Amino acid sequence: MAITNSYMQRVMEQVKQRNPGESEFLQAVEEVLESLQLVVEKDPRYEQYGVIERLVEPERFIQFRVSWVDDNGKVQVNRGFRCQFNSAIGPYKGGLRLHPSVCASVVKFLGFEQIFKNSLTTLPMGGGKGGSDFDPKGKSDMEIMRFCQSFMTELCKHIGPDTDVPAGDIGVGGREIGFMYGQYKRLRNEFTGVLTGKGLTFGGSLVRTEATGYGLCYFTQEMLQCMKNTSFEGKTVVISGSGNVAIYATQKATQLGAKVVALSDSNGYIYDPNGINLDVVKQIKEVEHGRIKEYVQRVSGAEYHEGCRGIWTIPCDIALPCATQNELNGDEAKVLVQNGVMAVAEGANMPSTPEAIAVFQENGVLFGPAKAANAGGVATSGLEMSQNSARLSWTFEEVDAKLQEIMKNIFHNAYNASVEYDCPGNLVNGANIAGFKKVADAMIAQGVCY
Ligand code: NDP
Repeated sequence: MAITNSYMQRVMEQVKQRNPGESEFLQAVEEVLESLQLVVEKDPRYEQYGVIERLVEPERFIQFRVSWVDDNGKVQVNRGFRCQFNSAIGPYKGGLRLHPSVCASVVKFLGFEQIFKNSLTTLPMGGGKGGSDFDPKGKSDMEIMRFCQSFMTELCKHIGPDTDVPAGDIGVGGREIGFMYGQYKRLRNEFTGVLTGKGLTFGGSLVRTEATGYGLCYFTQEMLQCMKNTSFEGKTVVISGSGNVAIYATQKATQLGAKVVALSDSNGYIYDPNGINLDVVKQIKEVEHGRIKEYVQRVSGAEYHEGCRGIWTIPCDIALPCATQNELNGDEAKVLVQNGVMAVAEGANMPSTPEAIAVFQENGVLFGPAKAANAGGVATSGLEMSQNSARLSWTFEEVDAKLQEIMKNIFHNAYNASVEYDCPGNLVNGANIAGFKKVADAMIAQGVCY
C-alpha cells in the first residue's frame, strides 16, 4: 500500500527532509502513515489539529557522552541516547539497547513504534526508547558495570517513576538493569520504580523475564485460533535470535505443543530436527554468555550453519523472527511461503522488511506485526510499575494470567480495527489504527501550546 492521501504525503515529505539518512526511522513512519490514511480520511479532526505532524516529531531527544574506564585503565567514549517520543497517555516507557548499531535513527524508530505498542496494551504508558553504541560483547562484568554507571549518571537527570521509566532491550538484561538501578539509587537517594526488569529481590515483577517471548506465543495462539481455527499443537517452528525474546518464545511454543527446530545469533544458526533442548541454550546464553554454535558440541544430531539469514530456508509452519530489525527480507519471505509457512509473528521490532510483509499478506500467511505481537514485555513492565507504586508483588500465576488476557485483547483490538476500516485480517493496519486512536484523541484533548 502506498501513501496516496495528500495530507499524509505532505507529512511524509517533511519527515524525510527533517530526518535525512535515517532509514530505519523513515521506514517505521512510512508504514504507520500508510495505515493511518484510512483513519484521517474518515475523521478530519486529525488533520485540523495537526495530530500527524506532532506525532512524528519526538517531544524530546537527548544525546550525551558516556565516558568510562576499561579493564586496562584506558578511557573509552560512547554515545548515549534517550528519545522521549510521546507522553500523551502516560510517562515515557521503552527499553534501552546496547549495540554498536545504535544511532539516532534506530532510537527514533524504536521510540516511535513504542507509542502505538504501549497504547495497544491499554496501560497508561507513553512511548520512548534509548541506548548506546556500546558493544557489550567480550566485556568483563566490571566493564559492563562501569559503563552502566556512567550511562545512568547522565540519564538519571531525565527520567523518573512519573516521567520516564526505561527497561531492557538488546544487550540489556537483568545484570545491566541492576547496575543502572544501583547507580540511580546512589545518585538520587530514592527507591522508586524508575526502571523495569529489575531483580526479584528489589522490586522486579515475576514473569517480566519471560514476558515478551510468552506474550508473543499467546498472541500467535489467539491469531491461529481465531483466523485459522488451529493452534501451536504439532507445528514446526523456526525462531531467529537466541536472546531473551527467542529463549522464552521457544519455551512457551514448546509448552503449547510445538517443536522449535532452529535458533540463531548474528554469526549463524542451529538446526535441531529433534526439537531445541532449551536447557542447553539457556546454559550457553544466559549463564556463559557464549555463542549459539556451541550447542552442536553438546547435542548430537544438531547442525550449525554460518550466516544467520539461512535460518529462513528451514521448512516450518510458524516463523517467529526474534533477533533484530530488517532480518527477514522479501526473498527470504518467498522461500518461507514456498516451504508452506502458515503464520509469522514478530518478536523483534520491525524484523520484516516492507517487501517481506507484502509477500506474506499476498500469500494469505497470517502476519502478527511487532507492535501487537511483542507488546507482552512492555505490558508486564506496566504491571511491574503498578506493583512498585502499590508496594506489593503479585504471584507468577497472577501476572501470567494478566499477560495472557492483555495479549488476547491486543489481538482482538487489532483484528476488530482491521474489520472496521475495511481491511479484515490486515493486522498491520489494525494494530497501527487501534494504537493510534487512543493517543491521538488524548493529544487533541490536551490541546496545542499557543
Ligand atoms: P538480546 O540481546 O537478549 O538478544 C538479541 C538476539 O538477537 C541475540 O541472539 C543476538 O545475537 C541477535 N542479534 C542482535 N543483532 C543482530 C543482528 N544484527 N543480526 C542477527 N542477529 C542479531 O535481545 P532481546 O531478545 O531482548 O531482543 C530481541 C528483539 O526483540 C529486539 O528487536 C528487541 O527490540 C525486541 N524486543 C525485546 C523486548 C524485551 O523485553 N527484551 C520487548 C519487545 C521487543 P548476537 O549475540 O550475535 O548479537
